[in-house]
Amino acid sequence: MSTVAIHPSVDTGIKKGTPGFAGGTLHCNCQKDKVEVRITSNVAHNHACGCTKCWKPAGAAFSVVGVVPRDKVEVTAHPEKLQVVDENAAIQRHACKACGTHMYGRIENRDHPFYGLDFVHTELSNDKGWEEPRFAAFVSSVIEGGGAKPEQMDDVRARLTELGLAPHDALNPPLMDAIAAHIAKRSGVLK
Ligand SMILES: [Zn+2]
Ligand SMILES: [Zn+2]
Repeated sequence: MSTVAIHPSVDTGIKKGTPGFAGGTLHCNCQKDKVEVRITSNVAHNHACGCTKCWKPAGAAFSVVGVVPRDKVEVTAHPEKLQVVDENAAIQRHACKACGTHMYGRIENRDHPFYGLDFVHTELSNDKGWEEPRFAAFVSSVIEGGGAKPEQMDDVRARLTELGLAPHDALNPPLMDAIAAHIAKRSGVLK
C-alpha cells in the first residue's frame, strides 16, 4: 500500500455519495463572516485534479472539484469578500479575498464546451451526500505544482488507482469526447 497523499478527503478512502442528494451549502475558511454559497444540485463529474489552477488545501497534491449548473449556484452571505483570481482565465475562479478559498469557478465564454457549468469544491460543505470523486485528471501536472517529483509518479498513479480514481493526464474520456464533439459541431464536421 502506497502512502502518497492525494487529498485529505480521499486519503482514508472514498465515501460514496447519496443517490438523489439535492445540494448543500459551501463556506469559505474564514473564522468569521464566512462567504456562503448555496447549491441546489448534486455535483457531477467530481474528480481529483492535479492542475496548477484549482484551489486545494495546504499540503494536498490534488484538488477535488466537480461541476454544477450555474443557475443552481447562489452566493448567500458575504459576496463583498469575493474577487476573481484571474479575469483572463477561461474559468473565472471567485475566491474569498480574506482566506483565499475558491468558492466557485465560472465560465463566461458562451462558446466554451463547459459553458453553463460552475466548478465547485464540495469539501467546503458540511452537508453529507455529495457525489464522490470518480477519476483523476491532469495527473502529470502535479509535478508542475510541486505536489510530487517525477520519480514519485508511479506511486501517485498506483495510489489513485487503488482509491478507484482512474488516473488521466488530461480529462477522462467522457469529458475529452464532450469537448471534441463541441468543437466538431462548431466546425461542421459533426452534424
Ligand atoms: Zn474566507
Ligand atoms: Zn484543476
